[in-house]
Amino acid sequence: MNDEELLRYSRQIMLPELGFEGQQRLAQGHALIIGLGGLGSPVALYLAAAGVGRLTLVDDDQVDLSNLQRQVIHDSDSIGQAKVESAARRIAAINPACQTHTVPRRLDEEELGGLVQQANVVLDCSDNFATRFMVNRQCHAAHTPLVSGAAIRWEGQLAVFAYGEGEACYQCLYGEGGEEDLRCSQNGVAAPLVGIIGSLQALEALKLLSGAGEPLCNRLLIVDTLHPQWQTLKLRPDPACPVCGSR
Ligand SMILES: [Zn+2]
Repeated sequence: MNDEELLRYSRQIMLPELGFEGQQRLAQGHALIIGLGGLGSPVALYLAAAGVGRLTLVDDDQVDLSNLQRQVIHDSDSIGQAKVESAARRIAAINPACQTHTVPRRLDEEELGGLVQQANVVLDCSDNFATRFMVNRQCHAAHTPLVSGAAIRWEGQLAVFAYGEGEACYQCLYGEGGEEDLRCSQNGVAAPLVGIIGSLQALEALKLLSGAGEPLCNRLLIVDTLHPQWQTLKLRPDPACPVCGSR
């Protein structure tokens, strides 16, 4: 690490749980970010600023005016551009040492599996159950830890799945997705809420990559911001789960 890097990351290196070695692990780390919207924005900004060496950005969407209220990695000049390109431009401005790989299309299961295998951590910042279940299946198959976040209206959720012995996976939690997708376009979402949940996702990924602290595994954090309350529920693996179950 050169003098400029020591200065850039000094406030992080001085954290005893992270330190010089943790910072080096971040520099060698590779995070796969699925979705560059409301959650993916703070995730990509903080991982790049904190010194994660490589980010792979996946999103098939373009920036729309209605995104700018909460998708803070994009700006007015980004409207009409691919979200992954707009995000990569901003990341380069914040930390030129961060290498980005952009994937501006929807992935099939096999392509996603290939990307998951190359990553040290996956951040699910998508907005639909089909993608979330597919990401969980591939992370389970590759044993790559998954940091899952969701936010709608005034409420958010966060969980980490590391696929250890006796640990629940995303599918254990949500079953076969009987629930309909709740989308911001139909239900609305409070802008700072996606900042809170996305920032927590970034924090969990930094802990996983650096080895600091303990990840939020086997637990589900539920945040209500309208009637402020933070709750943590214990998760139990479903023995009949089609992804991780023993039956
Ligand atoms: Zn499961």
